[in-house]
Amino acid sequence: MNGASPAKSLTVPQTMKAWVLDDPEKLRLTEKPVPEPGPAEVLVRVDAVSICGTDVEIITKGLPAIVRGGSPFNKNFTPGHEYMGTIVKLGAGVDEYKIGDRVAVEIHAGCGRCERCRQGMYTSCLNYGLNYEGHSKGHRANGFTTDGGFAQYAVNHINTLVHVSPEMSDAEATLIVTAGTAMYGLDVLGGLIAGESLVVTGPGPIGLMGVAVGKALGAEPVILTGTRDSRLNLGLKLGADHVVNINKDNAVEAVKRITHGRGANYVLECSGAPNALNEAMDMTQRGGRICLAAFPHEPTLVDLAKIVRNNIYLYGIRGEGKSATHRAAAMMNQKKFDAKLMHTHTFPLEELPTAFRYVRERIEDAIKVVVKVS
Ligand SMILES: [Zn+2]
Ligand SMILES: [Zn+2]
Repeated sequence: MNGASPAKSLTVPQTMKAWVLDDPEKLRLTEKPVPEPGPAEVLVRVDAVSICGTDVEIITKGLPAIVRGGSPFNKNFTPGHEYMGTIVKLGAGVDEYKIGDRVAVEIHAGCGRCERCRQGMYTSCLNYGLNYEGHSKGHRANGFTTDGGFAQYAVNHINTLVHVSPEMSDAEATLIVTAGTAMYGLDVLGGLIAGESLVVTGPGPIGLMGVAVGKALGAEPVILTGTRDSRLNLGLKLGADHVVNINKDNAVEAVKRITHGRGANYVLECSGAPNALNEAMDMTQRGGRICLAAFPHEPTLVDLAKIVRNNIYLYGIRGEGKSATHRAAAMMNQKKFDAKLMHTHTFPLEELPTAFRYVRERIEDAIKVVVKVS
């Protein structure tokens, strides 16, 4: 598992193994034609793909995936968005990458023509999901609106690629996009600078990466809150200065205590808990910022007056953006944090449903479950 996949023939077959989503919860392994890269695109042989909480959302509820203008069910759609692999074919005009390059991917190739894309905010592309006949604006979000990485091959726009260092294993490289999401929430969107205090609520993969990236960016102190000691201990290894088990301690009081009564400069909310935003507001100092990076499952009641009275800035993020995966890959290449600590399990492509079960039921405290494809 460690190290790069051995060099293999880069001959491209006509068909490939791919999982497709039939009804909710029903993934089926099938054969599909290997897709053709268009201009500014490449064909990636998927070497490894990691399972994300959002994949679980997609296979159970459909959203946030939107395929051909609607639900992703029964459309021969292949999910999976946190993958890495080897370039095996170049589309017309591609000279930025060459055949044989190892790459990790980010999810969103914006349309490149809307106001958000022109601002570099391609994760909020105004033409989201418009990539099919009659409605083609060129947008792609692999594993969300176009075919993703639970397959042997995938097509990627060159804007969604980043080179992987030869020392980095395939499994670790699948975590670049996870780190990129935390990076975007902290650096470009939230403007975190060295010396600012950071609270991360919820030690799931994005939260743990938030701790690691925040520490690497110079945040001080970095405080992680959660309910499971095993996850909190991992947070300490990834760079948290303080951890708070909210079953034993009051999170708001603990943050106030650690920040000498002031509250934190920045709170990265990764728990999705119903009261998380109210608590985040109580942890944030006046004029501070909150970034929401988890999906709460129900609408929640929020004391908005606190945001007004205290001049709090509120951000929502949807995945990586503004080339954050490049900054995440650079930090991982420089070994600023050890993302490998989050990789707990590996399964072959044929065992994708088992891999999903490990994620959903948190079997053996699974955190990042990687599917090795090639
Ligand atoms: Zn994801
Ligand atoms: Zn766009």
